[in-house]
Amino acid sequence: MSKNSLTDRPIYDITKFTTLDFPKNLAAILWFCGCNMRCPYCYNSPIVFGSGTISIQETLDFLKTRINKLTGVVLSGGECTLYPNLEELCNEIKSLGFKIKIDTNGTNPKLIKKLIKNELVDYIALDYKAPKNKFESITKNTNFNAFENTLNSLIQADFPFETRTTVHSDLLNEEDINCIIDDLYSKNYSRIYYIQNYLHAEDNVGQITAQNHPIETNKISDKIDTNFREF
Ligand code: SF4
Repeated sequence: MSKNSLTDRPIYDITKFTTLDFPKNLAAILWFCGCNMRCPYCYNSPIVFGSGTISIQETLDFLKTRINKLTGVVLSGGECTLYPNLEELCNEIKSLGFKIKIDTNGTNPKLIKKLIKNELVDYIALDYKAPKNKFESITKNTNFNAFENTLNSLIQADFPFETRTTVHSDLLNEEDINCIIDDLYSKNYSRIYYIQNYLHAEDNVGQITAQNHPIETNKISDKIDTNFREF
């Protein structure tokens, strides 16, 4: 990694240990600052709006102390694919012997394809934020096509990944989720689709209030395998 990149401070925080976030791995999570979306329900405001405090050098120094203790590293955020030297960083993390999981909103298909091609990522969690007709109003991002490009590439590559949607019933209803399911079905998505119930946090990006009720899971289509989280 170049000397200049080592002094970058793109990381807001590091979770030193998780058994939950990276399937079949004990992992650390790197929380990258900044995001190109503004999902109202996002509880990571300090990460979305803040600036990084931890340098790449400090991050790698920490990871070196975790060799043989952890098996994986999760790159999360914020939106980690906005970090311009992510490929270099993945190379460094891989050279330490860790597997890599990336959490992404899918708006950087070019980078994702490159990381897959160069075997620099092992698992991806892709947010399917909303059906196309609601994508911009929910995320404040107009690039549904980029997200769709990422989704199609992952399906076509048969890469290990999951899609997931966070649902606040004031923002998305059962019909919206079924629209997403129809789309995944039409694309031959063969993995589990995770539907995550919104859990209220006071400090959220859209200053939204708690939902009156969660969506009704019995109204959700069974065309594909779904898994309901926190319902
Ligand atoms: S939930 Fe939305 S705003 Fe928050 S980090 Fe993810 S993509 Fe960005």
